[in-house]
This record gives sequence, C-alpha cells and structure tokens, in this order.
Amino acid sequence: MYTLIFATNNQNKVQEIQSLIGADFKIIPLNEAGIDIDIPEPHHTFQENANEKARTIFEMTKENCFSEDTGLEIESLNGAPGVKSARYAGDDRDFQANIDKVLSELNGIENRAAQFRTVICLIWNETTYYFEGICKGHIATVMQGEKGFGYDPIFIPEGDIRSFAQMTMAEKNKYSHRQKAVTQLFTFLRAQKFN
Ligand code: IMP
Repeated sequence: MYTLIFATNNQNKVQEIQSLIGADFKIIPLNEAGIDIDIPEPHHTFQENANEKARTIFEMTKENCFSEDTGLEIESLNGAPGVKSARYAGDDRDFQANIDKVLSELNGIENRAAQFRTVICLIWNETTYYFEGICKGHIATVMQGEKGFGYDPIFIPEGDIRSFAQMTMAEKNKYSHRQKAVTQLFTFLRAQKFN
C-alpha cells in the first residue's frame, strides 16, 4: 500500500477522496501525520493556493504529498466566490452564512450558471504536478437537502434535478469536480507504480 499526505484537515474531503481511490493508496490527513497548522490561502488562483499548501507540507515532511483547492464560480457574479469560497461571508467560514450571501446576491438574477473547480497539486518525487476537475451546474433558488457540506444544498449539477446535498456520496461522485481531478491524480499515480 502507498501512503500520501493530504494537506487538509477537512474530514469530508478525506472521506470523499479515500472512497474514490480504493485500497491501493492510503490518504493521511494532516492531523494523522501529526501536523497542526492552518495553511493560508492568500492567492488569486486555485493553482497558486494548492501549490502553497502542498509546498508547505513538503518542506516540513519531505514526503510525497498533495493538496487541493476548490471553489464555486458563479457566472453572473464574475466568478465569485471563487478562491474566497470558504470565507465568502466572513473569516469564520460559516457554510450557512456563505449560502445566504450567494442567494441574496443572486436574488432576481436569471443567469444562475455556476461551476465548482478543483485543482490538485501533487508533489511526487520532488516534482510538482497539477490536475483539474470542473463540474458545471446552476444555483438553486432555495436550499435543498441535508447531506454534504459547503454550498452543496444550493448547487444542482448539469444532468440532474437534485442538489448535491440530496445525493449520496456515490451519487455526488459521479458528477463531482473533486472526483474528476482525483481520477486524474490516481491515473497518474498508478502509472508511477509500474515505472
Ligand atoms: P477549500 O478552500 O478547498 O477547502 O474549499 C473552499 C470552500 O469551497 C469550502 O469551504 C466550501 O464552502 C466550498 N466547497 C469545496 N468543495 C465543495 C463541495 O464539494 N461542495 C460544496 N462546497 C464545496
């Protein structure tokens, strides 16, 4: 089994990614790796933020590791909340407050097109690689469903009528931005196994 440190403490993401990759690779979140830091995300692109996180962990551990940065991009808000998705309504990263802010900004606006974007930064044998996944959809007018996290109750992926929060993890994974990026990551990693 291969182990990889994942530069996050978000248990939802750890579970989602571990369920996608199967048993060959064991994901070690920061708390299990004994690392207790909150890595800043100060940049204007997902790629730079993901790089900052992976690089910080690599400098500390010298181990293979990866990070991911994800956000919701809403067309009629010029791509907001974007890299500010976690703190859109303030520094306490309150999911409900973030949703309320998006719904109020979209009040009366017809174009509700949106997408989630995930960028993964992998540091593998000291070389940096990037993988990206996008899930297109739209923002609902009211919250729907109890599952998931973040903006899931207001995001409806293309090809479905339910929000992410009304889906099981397996159903969400069929559409998920993170799933698409992680699939690329593990296609890459599997190929490395045979090199
Ligand atoms: P992070 O900085 O990559 O942890 O994610 C930024 C924010 O995007 C999170 O705090 C969530 O609000 C939101 N987010 C990320 N992934 C998802 C998802 O799969 N569903 C809903 N919201 C998400």
